[in-house]
Amino acid sequence: MPRLKESCKQDLKLRINIVDVVSRVATPKRAGGSRFKALCPFHQERTPSFHFDSDKGFYKCFGCGKSGDIFSFVQETEGLNFTEAIEALAQRFNVTLEYEEGGGGPSREERSLRQELFDLHEFATDHLHQAFKGGGDAAKWMRDYWTVNRRFPAELADEFKIGLADAQCSGLGAAVLRKKFSEAAIRQCGLFYLYDDALMTVQALKPRFRGRLMIPIRDHQGRVVAFTARQTALTPEDDKSREAKYVNSPETPIFTKGNLLFNLDRARAHAGEGNPFVMVEGQLDALRCWSVGLKTAIAPQGTSITEGQLLLLRRYHTELECFFDSDAAGQKAALRLLPLALKTGIEVRFLTLAGEGKLDPDLLFLDKGLAGYEEVKKNSFGGMQFMRRYVLPDARSATAERTHAAVREIYSVIAAADSELLRRRLLGEIAPALGALQVTPDVFERDFASFLAKGGRAAATGPGVTGPATGSGGGGESGPGERFEINGQGTPAPEDSAAPERDLLLLLLHSEILGGALAAACPHDWVDDRLPAGALLNRFLAEFSEGQWPGVNRLDTLLESEAERALVASLLFEKPQIDDWSKVGVEGLTRLRARALAPRLRQINILLAQAATDHSFDATALLKERSELQRRLRSPLALAPLA
Ligand code: ZN
Repeated sequence: MPRLKESCKQDLKLRINIVDVVSRVATPKRAGGSRFKALCPFHQERTPSFHFDSDKGFYKCFGCGKSGDIFSFVQETEGLNFTEAIEALAQRFNVTLEYEEGGGGPSREERSLRQELFDLHEFATDHLHQAFKGGGDAAKWMRDYWTVNRRFPAELADEFKIGLADAQCSGLGAAVLRKKFSEAAIRQCGLFYLYDDALMTVQALKPRFRGRLMIPIRDHQGRVVAFTARQTALTPEDDKSREAKYVNSPETPIFTKGNLLFNLDRARAHAGEGNPFVMVEGQLDALRCWSVGLKTAIAPQGTSITEGQLLLLRRYHTELECFFDSDAAGQKAALRLLPLALKTGIEVRFLTLAGEGKLDPDLLFLDKGLAGYEEVKKNSFGGMQFMRRYVLPDARSATAERTHAAVREIYSVIAAADSELLRRRLLGEIAPALGALQVTPDVFERDFASFLAKGGRAAATGPGVTGPATGSGGGGESGPGERFEINGQGTPAPEDSAAPERDLLLLLLHSEILGGALAAACPHDWVDDRLPAGALLNRFLAEFSEGQWPGVNRLDTLLESEAERALVASLLFEKPQIDDWSKVGVEGLTRLRARALAPRLRQINILLAQAATDHSFDATALLKERSELQRRLRSPLALAPLA
């Protein structure tokens, strides 16, 4: 991951007004001073409770509680991660970003190479699309291929910038050289073959794509990063990949197959409650879906679906319908997807069409339009139903071996589920079907438990998975129900809005002048740093003791997570009517002190009560500790601005 220079974030915050960021998705109304309000983009409402402040650069919704800054706003409304949100903002507001040298991130050169590769792909997309629209026989042939053979609307070609690579790749090499892209970018873009020691000339640049229909591949931010090229009658005999139906760009610094889903950049805007993503096998299937109005279709890049792709998908929506060809390859792909979906928390259903014969989503939608979708939706299966149908042998043909193999396959899928609760549910769903194969539910469950104990779920356990960390060594005897636990040890205490940490944090943010005094008066071990507010309070107090407090408007460098940014934003937004912040501070400190010292005092009192009947016990030390504790608990606390 490229690491941005810390100063960039600050720079963006100074240059970009949150009002401009919010107004892309909501209409701001003035609410006095630097304050604005709008209808909340995060929840449904009729009167605006979404407030933001152009000076402070923070927002807070008093309806749903969402709060944060320009970065979290873009992250949440556009489904980007932090770095992507920064890049999107920088691009939108014309701010140049700087990256850290070394430290694992790309160097300045690598960074500009990436940018150049994006530019080169954008340029190539336009060039090849113009070739598709141009005069000449090849262009006319390809347009006919698009509209007559494939029966796609002409406008769809414009919308997705479908291109033509004729036998010479439509002169792309010469155009790229004229455009003065750097040699490094041309060598690494994947659009050409070029010998390592060859001079950079038009003759030396051998195009990878010849006589093919060009489909630009965009990442989830809508940037073209690669191409898929469909073989056609124009593909020349001497082409190296003549026989391949589809040729893809190789992986490059901007293109990793396993992290990309075709059409996700558009589909993500249409997916949501009741509108699941629909995974189809190929890009042209996805384009067919789009053209008939099924806007949530996506396609993997290449044949197999990866965990990375599903994690990307999950950022936007967790419901997925899988609509693959009804042939054996399609079913195999579906079965590979199922454990990944369970592992990543994607709810998957499989769409199939009743009746015989090979079904191809492209033909179905071409034939029936969106009605075809309604039809396959009626025949959809959940994951376990799908396994019952396609994995379990039917009772008549089942042999012990076949049943055993099928059951093992089911185990390995269920083992991928990310919670014990879900695994139980899945076992319950499939168990009845096993009855017909003479496998009773209790045998099935015991067998599954021993499968897990033997390491069958090793692949399924990842960070953040609840439940036991390792397979229970006890083996098949312990039922899954007994091993289920909701909270492990060391789980952070839940945020308590009444916690003194929160009050003291509020004080620091609204009365910085008391920060030094508070830092001097508050030992860090009084603070519960398992609370987000506590962790922040200790961090802030440390800055004050060091004399390094950056000031309320420059806190970014001190905030380490989204939760922290949100907490600070929400505290900054409170308008506490406080005359005497010192008093608030003293109260908070007093509560922290009592909470820190009281348990030991109670413990001492119990020990002393026991000691009263035991004359050999010397209570002197305990008595001394108790009076010291009592003295500390009584001693007055004070907070005054330090000179
Ligand atoms: Zn809201």
